Amino acid sequence: MAGIYIHIPFCKQACHYCNFHFATSLRHKNELVAALLKEIEIQQEYLGKETVGTIYLGGGTPSLLDISDIRSLVEKIRAVYVVAENAELTLETNPDDINEEKLISWKETGINRLSIGVQSFFEEDLQWMNRAHTGEQAMVNLQLATQYFTNITIDLIYGTPGLTNEKWKHNVETAISFNIPHLSCYALTVEPKTPLQKMISQGKAQDVNPDKQSEQFLLLMQWLEEAGYEHYEISNFAKPGFRSGHNSSYWQGKKYLGLGPSAHSFDGNSRQWNVSNNTIYIESIGKGIVPFEKETLTPVQKINEYIMTSLRTSEGLDMDKIEKGISDKLVEKAEKYINYGSMKQESNYLILTKEGKLLADGIAANLFIS
Ligand code: SF4
Repeated sequence: MAGIYIHIPFCKQACHYCNFHFATSLRHKNELVAALLKEIEIQQEYLGKETVGTIYLGGGTPSLLDISDIRSLVEKIRAVYVVAENAELTLETNPDDINEEKLISWKETGINRLSIGVQSFFEEDLQWMNRAHTGEQAMVNLQLATQYFTNITIDLIYGTPGLTNEKWKHNVETAISFNIPHLSCYALTVEPKTPLQKMISQGKAQDVNPDKQSEQFLLLMQWLEEAGYEHYEISNFAKPGFRSGHNSSYWQGKKYLGLGPSAHSFDGNSRQWNVSNNTIYIESIGKGIVPFEKETLTPVQKINEYIMTSLRTSEGLDMDKIEKGISDKLVEKAEKYINYGSMKQESNYLILTKEGKLLADGIAANLFIS
């Protein structure tokens, strides 16, 4: 089954580390929603009538939308595409947007999974990141959300300069105490052209420490394993039955359609990405044209993408999915990592060990074929 992603490019304020596409003014919200509704129609052939198994409203901050906007978008998708009866419908939210009325309304629109951007429960860390919510809001509204939704994932960030191992443990234990069945945990990365990068280069913020990040990642794996979570992808942990269907589709190379400015799509052979500019997007869609760039993947690129994504998953890289001559070369290259203890081979699968997961992207890049 295929997936649909809708990018809502608005946020209350700019988090210092963020390099996603968003605007902090809601001035053009109505035009943007109207354009999205139109793009849903224009792109109706993209998935080739494949049934849609997951819909993901991400951003940006989709929880800033009015409930009527969310309802229109979901209803439009259901009207234009074949959506599975038990489709996973995720809404990204921030803790400061959650209240009882919204939770009830979101549920009524068919949203059955919430992704909540908690990042930390500590006030000083939230301020350092320039998040719009407080630690208190994260606690109170997470508790509230669990009364209406069982399928919840929260995002947490580690490796920030102010986060000691004790504080990191507190964040993870708090999530576990709320019985949150899915956690996405990311090491803070300093992306180009972000306020954080500027602050670090000007000496106004401390840079990240890779050794501390590795230590906190190892601790995270240990704590969540002990708490019964499956570490099913480098940054993702789930209680049995709560893996993200949407993200799993990406990692399994399934088709997905991305709608909205900056959204990416994949049809099995090519990738395309919409323009990262709200005004250009709205104007172009108004003329009936989706403004995107496209790249057709070569057979080599497809294999390398498979190496990169599969090694990040707990199932690992299935060598049966790769042509024999190439998979033999892969095993040869993998041998040194197996000897280092970074990787193991189980029947026809190459799987990263805990230590290997610390170096996942580098190991994958070294296995790439040319
Ligand atoms: S709320 Fe999310 S998308 Fe918006 S600026 Fe912060 S991290 Fe980026």
